[in-house]
Amino acid sequence: MPVANLQDLFMETLKDVYYVEKKLVKELPKMIKKASSPQLKDAISGHLEETQIHVTRIEDIFTALNKKPVAKKCEALEGLLEEAEEVIEDVKDPKTLDAALISSAQTVEHYEIARYGTLARWAVELGHDDVTSILEETLAEEKAADSKLTKIAESAVNQAAAAA
Ligand code: ZN
Ligand code: FE
Ligand code: FE
Repeated sequence: MPVANLQDLFMETLKDVYYVEKKLVKELPKMIKKASSPQLKDAISGHLEETQIHVTRIEDIFTALNKKPVAKKCEALEGLLEEAEEVIEDVKDPKTLDAALISSAQTVEHYEIARYGTLARWAVELGHDDVTSILEETLAEEKAADSKLTKIAESAVNQAAAAA
């Protein structure tokens, strides 16, 4: 699809995050299953619930802009998930695997933070005041999920992995 202006670019990027959120709803349960730390399982489960809400929020944004929700394959996410799967296969020690899972999950959160940060700023420039707050709400949750993972890593998981 040709991109003529910032509005087009905004829509293409919205399709990208729509793909990302829908894909993560399918992928996060696999990570929950692989995690050993109950704290880590809880954190990913909590973010899975938020991610389901992120999907519906993006659908609300499409609707607010009088567009049908369309997903566009995100090659970046596919690459990150491929690396995550590789590491899950390779790491046999459960404590080391917890550290690996946090690392993989955080690469995904950082991708989302970058995307939502950009979308929220573009929405302001484009005068989509109604969707800016929705994007900022999700952005705040992605940042909170990332911080929570850092806390779990630093308070327990990294030390346990180093001792394994
Ligand atoms: Zn999300
Ligand atoms: Fe992407
Ligand atoms: Fe996320």
